[in-house]
Amino acid sequence: MIIFSGGTGTPKLLNGLRKVIPEENLTVVVNTAEDLWVSGNLVTPDIDTVLYLLSNRIDSKKWWGVADDTFRTYELMKSLGHNEKMMLGDLDRATHIMRSDHLRAGKTLSTATMELSRSFGVAAKVLPMSDDPVSTMVVTPGGTMHFQDFWLGNQGKPEVLDVYQDGVDEASISPAVLEELDNEDEVLIGPSNPITSIGPILAIPGMRDILRKKKVIAVSPIIGTEPVSGPAGKLMSARGMDVSSVAVAQFYKDFLDVFVIDERDNIHDQTFDNLDCKVMRADTLMKTVDVSLSLSKFVVDEFGKMD
Ligand code: GDP
Repeated sequence: MIIFSGGTGTPKLLNGLRKVIPEENLTVVVNTAEDLWVSGNLVTPDIDTVLYLLSNRIDSKKWWGVADDTFRTYELMKSLGHNEKMMLGDLDRATHIMRSDHLRAGKTLSTATMELSRSFGVAAKVLPMSDDPVSTMVVTPGGTMHFQDFWLGNQGKPEVLDVYQDGVDEASISPAVLEELDNEDEVLIGPSNPITSIGPILAIPGMRDILRKKKVIAVSPIIGTEPVSGPAGKLMSARGMDVSSVAVAQFYKDFLDVFVIDERDNIHDQTFDNLDCKVMRADTLMKTVDVSLSLSKFVVDEFGKMD
């Protein structure tokens, strides 16, 4: 199974999936449009979260970074007047240095990520969506900024006029991802932000055409009229979308076969009538690993019914 992932909702689901499917049979295609060079090293937040989860290192309270990390390097630099854009943990920083050394040695981001996965003992294939740089940019009344400047630098507060992915039109699907897509029929779009996590993956030229030939299940990141967490609502509104699961389904309409919405969502089934996909309800609020596990079984069963 191929899973399209961001850095929070889908990794929570992966935490269950890896108990249902042998991990080596999972390929995770990860958003890289939130990546940023910080103090000389490339931080890839979504890939890092997936690697830390699958190597049992994740800080599961924050759902980013390494468990029990310290921030001594960050704090020292701050006290010396060097304010990093991201608060990087000391152990987390080791990953960024290793990744960037691979890149400095001339390797692609895919190869660097595969090398890191191997170092971390991760059995799943974790791959960046592209080897080319793509950046999510947020247009605000005060100017256009990188997503991380909006979300971390400005705590997501500015009004959002538009969101776009810089570089995506020139980007290619990474060859490693293309090879996986050639060999696998089942694609799961996890419950990740449709604008900043899944949107960039879908926007790479050719991706939607490939998905139209696949069996695709998506899990909604929206319950009712609210995202479970993060800025998805604000960013969907800026794109002229309603904040609802049906708006997410609409965004995936051209390739979507099964859409899983939360059992708490009181949206009517008829709302999805013209979307040509099967709508299923399940508990998608993954507060515990048990919920992730039962949602994973549900998804695997649904793929089974499509055979
Ligand atoms: P990011 O890269 O950190 O923005 O993370 P993602 O895009 O992977 O995840 C953020 C999205 O996941 C948000 O839109 C949330 O609404 C959604 N999300 C987070 N946790 C859950 C959950 O337990 N269930 C569901 N259905 N969605 C979730």
